[in-house]
Amino acid sequence: MALYVHKYGGTSMGSVERIKNVARRVAKWRNAGHQVIVVPSAMSGETNRLLGLAREIQKDPDPRELDMLASTGEQASVALLSMALQDLGVAARSYTGWQVPIRTDSSHTKARIKSIDDARVRQDLDAGKVVIITGFQGVDEDNNITTLGRGGSDTSAVAVAAALSAKECLIYTDVDGVYTTDPRVVPEAQRLGVVSFEEMLEMASLGSKVLQIRSVEFAGKYRLPVRVLSSLTDPLISLDDEARSGTLITFEEDEKMETAVVSGIAFSRDEAKLTLVAVPDKPGIAYQILGPIAAANIDVDVIVQNQSIAGTTDFSFTVNRVEFKRAMDVLQNTVLPAVGAREIVSDESVCKVSIVGIGMRSHVGIASLMFETLAQEGINIQMISTSEIKTSVIIQDKYMELAVRALHKAFGLDQYQASNASS
Ligand code: ADP
Ligand code: ASP
Ligand code: MG
Repeated sequence: MALYVHKYGGTSMGSVERIKNVARRVAKWRNAGHQVIVVPSAMSGETNRLLGLAREIQKDPDPRELDMLASTGEQASVALLSMALQDLGVAARSYTGWQVPIRTDSSHTKARIKSIDDARVRQDLDAGKVVIITGFQGVDEDNNITTLGRGGSDTSAVAVAAALSAKECLIYTDVDGVYTTDPRVVPEAQRLGVVSFEEMLEMASLGSKVLQIRSVEFAGKYRLPVRVLSSLTDPLISLDDEARSGTLITFEEDEKMETAVVSGIAFSRDEAKLTLVAVPDKPGIAYQILGPIAAANIDVDVIVQNQSIAGTTDFSFTVNRVEFKRAMDVLQNTVLPAVGAREIVSDESVCKVSIVGIGMRSHVGIASLMFETLAQEGINIQMISTSEIKTSVIIQDKYMELAVRALHKAFGLDQYQASNASS
């Protein structure tokens, strides 16, 4: 007997029939003698529907009220799933984030989990109940409801699994694992049997929305095994087969994995580029520009500073597109008057495409194959950023899918033979 945390995404919870299937699957694990905590998302489309209503009422709603609203989607899900389990004769109990409580900081709409109280949950588990906890939400010190950012139920699930030392966190979703790239964009994408924690961290941070980045960070911090698998199979398939399916995020880098130089292509359309033209090239300039951006709690991604010509330089950086307007305001109102640049140029139609692989550490020429491939497609690279195991480029977003397909092919990922030793 072991403790497992199951997470079910929006599509997996998308209808009454699907919720009943989730209950059947959970009942199978419970009846095999395991303890199970389930963390469901809101039913598909529900979070968007709620946020849409908010924006019909007010252009720029108060983030506290947005959280109050958006968190309700998950509250409906936990209650419905609890009913579905009880209908199957399985004892179950649902909780919202504040009831557990899952404590977070106060950054509304992108809060971070600080601690999870496991007392109530343990009591229920010990009494033989399946515990169902809302994904995506928590509560701050002043008892305000907070949410963890889009896709945040992944993080709730992994954090709960870590807090209760679960054996594994199973992320059930609408694809049967982590692929070499989004299979909806490249049909030739191949499923990875295992993916290293570091690669998954890069892929998630570079835009692969199959896992929210913070969930991968939690998995790494607590070395918690996480598996991504399908919720759309027959819920009554053998538990052993199911427990071995999908993609396991592993902390061991074996030799087999080293042979795949590049194991994934990630992309993100959520980018916007800002450039300060002709800023004085002197010590402290990067701090003068990015300090106020950081103070406004805006994450900066790729940064490029050009060679200075006649004492001035151009300074460019990218931010998430949803934070573009705020970043522009900070530049115009705070930075420009202080540093005296000639002008600010911006581009909201850029995207980021990245190749990821731990094998890049020990191979040369990988980035140059990337640049060659993009050149052959006539795609102009605007910015480049590299780390030990990834290379990212900023390009015009109309070329994104073309770039991803061409790179997938150039790096042999169409033929990738994944190690399926994921158990
Ligand atoms: P859920 O609602 O279950 O949280 P998401 O939509 O958040 O599901 O994440 C699953 C989706 O992630 C898939 O449907 C797929 O389109 C997308 N995705 C992006 N990159 C990848 C990848 N490398 N492997 C698998 N899926 C990916
Ligand atoms: N329901 C939230 C969202 O749509 C959280 C999640 O699905 O993970 O972003
Ligand atoms: Mg998700």
